[in-house]
Amino acid sequence: MSVKVPPAGAFAAAAPVVIIGAGAAGLCAALAAREAGADVVVLERDAVPRGSTALSAGLIPAAGTRLQKTIGIDDDAKLFAADLKRKAHDEADPVIVDLVAREAGPTVEWLADRYGFPFSVVHDFDYPGHSARRMHGLPGRSGADLIDRLRQAAEEAEIPLIVDATVTSLYAGAERIVRGVEMTRPDGSLDRLGCEALVLACNGYGGAPDLVARFIPDLRSAIYFGHPGNRGDAVLWGEALGAKVLHMSGYQGHGSVAHPHGILITWAVIMEGGFQVNSAGRRFSDESLGYSEQASVVLAQPGAIAFDIFDARIAAIARQFEDFRQAEASGAVIDAPTVGGLAERLKVPVEALAQSLADVEDAKRAGARDRFGRTFVGAAPLSPPFKAVKVTGALFHTQGGIAINEEARALNAQGQPLPNLFAAGGAAAGVSGPRASGYLSGNGLLTATVLGRIAGRSAARLVVKSR
Ligand SMILES: Cc1cc2nc3c(=O)[nH]c(=O)nc-3n(C[C@H](O)[C@H](O)[C@H](O)COP(=O)(O)OP(=O)(O)OC[C@H]3O[C@@H](n4cnc5c(N)ncnc54)[C@H](O)[C@@H]3O)c2cc1C
Repeated sequence: MSVKVPPAGAFAAAAPVVIIGAGAAGLCAALAAREAGADVVVLERDAVPRGSTALSAGLIPAAGTRLQKTIGIDDDAKLFAADLKRKAHDEADPVIVDLVAREAGPTVEWLADRYGFPFSVVHDFDYPGHSARRMHGLPGRSGADLIDRLRQAAEEAEIPLIVDATVTSLYAGAERIVRGVEMTRPDGSLDRLGCEALVLACNGYGGAPDLVARFIPDLRSAIYFGHPGNRGDAVLWGEALGAKVLHMSGYQGHGSVAHPHGILITWAVIMEGGFQVNSAGRRFSDESLGYSEQASVVLAQPGAIAFDIFDARIAAIARQFEDFRQAEASGAVIDAPTVGGLAERLKVPVEALAQSLADVEDAKRAGARDRFGRTFVGAAPLSPPFKAVKVTGALFHTQGGIAINEEARALNAQGQPLPNLFAAGGAAAGVSGPRASGYLSGNGLLTATVLGRIAGRSAARLVVKSR
């Protein structure tokens, strides 16, 4: 990954706006740039755009939407921004937090109204740290559906998407104006494309083990559950062009990935009144703090595993997620009519598991904090048949990236915008601050869709203005 000075006559072809990466960020940027009147080309390394977006549950948090209002949910951008700031320990850039909290509702409604995305609000359980039910998703609650719809919208808008095009170098002179890109094709040949503005939408560095070991040493041996093609190119180019990178130790982890099946088990199984035990049958944490920070907590348990314990009622809620249905189909979800039977099937000590369950049910009845500080307020008691999944902790995506302003323009160390470089989604510094515990559910697609749309619109303005 390099930044090179363009030779004379380097670009036989050019597009005003070039976008690297066809995940949620890149495709939202492309749609917005086209709407704003710019010709745009999207470059994607894979044969079919998937990205981490396809691996997600496709849920976008947004406040004050008409979809919330229809089902009586009272919410607004101010409340959402306060939740984001609290979860990020006030360490995220408040300007960007306020921006994404304000623009998330309009972005979800833009996709729903202009492109026909049939979003609905997840209304039957709470996500940790959100004061209102504000996760918007497609009917299958699947990121694969989200990326397919975005790709279809881009195709219908006749936006050129060049696939099998891994961008390997940028071209820029001493003045740091990006002039174009070089891409490597599957047969090893190289193509160049000139540009007037460049949007980096190629996510973070979860797929680059050396960068993970450098910035997130706790997770260097964790499974990386995100898209393997996200290899930190954006931050490496950004740095080479003099952009500031921020919060590189921030990430989204997850403490509930079925092991060894490698399937995400929704945190709803915990938030609805379930809990986690280790292989000794004992609880070890306040699981309600969030699934992201729980990744390293689970990885610190013996054998780096834990068990999610819940019941049939909770499984019925979790079944709205495609991942959970797959987990059931592949035998990852274990059930038993009694707690003793469950312990036997999990090979954990019966007395310890029974005691852990009894303690949780006591805490629910008492409505008090348990010894880990968790409250189970509003959670129904677990009842037979019981369910369990053996899980491990995983790295989902990184949250650090290029510092940006309200137009999603990359900033240099002095806080000044670079001439024509934009970043969105996992390529930009997120709104979680420098720690895993700063990640509020949905921050990934929040910054992908909202900042993607802003980056596309801003890049278009730049090139249209210069005509
Ligand atoms: C299992 C899982 C579950 C998740 N669940 C949620 C959720 O429910 N809600 C939520 O908000 N977030 C969730 N996330 C996080 C969310 O998926 C990401 O934050 C979001 O998809 C990032 O979007 P993006 O467009 O920045 O990146 P991506 O979707 O990863 O797209 C980046 C694209 O860039 C391409 N690319 C990379 N380098 C190059 C290059 N050099 N040249 C050309 N192309 C390149 C990649 O191939 C990829 O297609 C989840 C993540 C995972 C892994």
